[in-house]
Amino acid sequence: MASIDSADHRAGKKMITVSAPAKINLVFQVAELANDGYHPVNSLYLELDLRDRLRLVPTVENQAVGISVSSATLPARHVNAVPTDQNNLVYLVAEKMFSAQGVKLAGFDILIDKKIPVAGGMAGGSADAAAMLVGCNHYLNQVHGKKLLSNEELIELAKQFGSDVPFSLLGGLAIGTNRGEKLRQLEPFGFACHFVIAISHEGLSTPQVFARFDEIGQSSPFSDLAIPLTDIQQLASMMGNDLEPAAITLLPSISNTIDVLKLSGALKAMVTGSGPTVIGLFDDADLAKKAAETLAELGLIGIPALPSYLGTRLES
Ligand code: ATP
Repeated sequence: MASIDSADHRAGKKMITVSAPAKINLVFQVAELANDGYHPVNSLYLELDLRDRLRLVPTVENQAVGISVSSATLPARHVNAVPTDQNNLVYLVAEKMFSAQGVKLAGFDILIDKKIPVAGGMAGGSADAAAMLVGCNHYLNQVHGKKLLSNEELIELAKQFGSDVPFSLLGGLAIGTNRGEKLRQLEPFGFACHFVIAISHEGLSTPQVFARFDEIGQSSPFSDLAIPLTDIQQLASMMGNDLEPAAITLLPSISNTIDVLKLSGALKAMVTGSGPTVIGLFDDADLAKKAAETLAELGLIGIPALPSYLGTRLES
């Protein structure tokens, strides 16, 4: 089939908008460093209703792709930490997808609206990469007449851009093994739960946290994470993160944040991912809201959030 000339289509070329979710690790079990240089993990991932939004905005044909980042909710340090050049993960994704189809990467700008804290252990960069995989898939189809890749093909591609990118695509509740990219999706929770996300003033680098974890040398045996959870108490007692001691030694203020959430009625409060973001689990929406207000009074950012089961999705 002849490929459709983009000039013929530019008149009808419309903006593509995709959103992708933040993840938390309800359980994060990490084994010793393996010979391949990675730590095998056993993780229970949950998607939250906190989403980055990515727009592919048509420009002039052949014009180089520009990236801009903004946020109405996060402090400036988050936006400033995101590269707007070819080092941004979304650029690497676009480069790969366009060259695989033999199409020159040009003719649109990328606008990233961030709600997911940067360097917070919530897979913000991975979410943007997942959004870009879906965005490019539709752009290449709509503008260049390329065949849409299936979800399975996108998940295979996602693995190349980081261990969390497949989960960012799929979302919901899932067990992640190997490096976190091998996923087994679980049924949504059958009970209500509320989270508060406490965003730290400083970020933590994921490799640095893993390096400290290696120094401390405390890995735990992997447990079966597929046990059906019947209530929130059971969830609270299952939650835990092997990286938490490492994150706390690098950023001791994390302990205070955990204490504030516990004193505010959290059934469990802990570091998520490689931190420094702390999550609090609540059985009551008002308690969660009050905990977020208490964090704000202490000069921290607390965001109430709910479980979500949408994955990365095309919005328009
Ligand atoms: P993870 O939990 O996946 O280890 P994280 O959530 O802790 O990651 P990210 O928000 O993904 O951290 O950011 C890590 C670093 O990645 C940032 O400091 C930034 O330099 C770089 N980066 C590249 N592209 C992006 C992007 N689109 N959004 C955020 N950070 C990006």
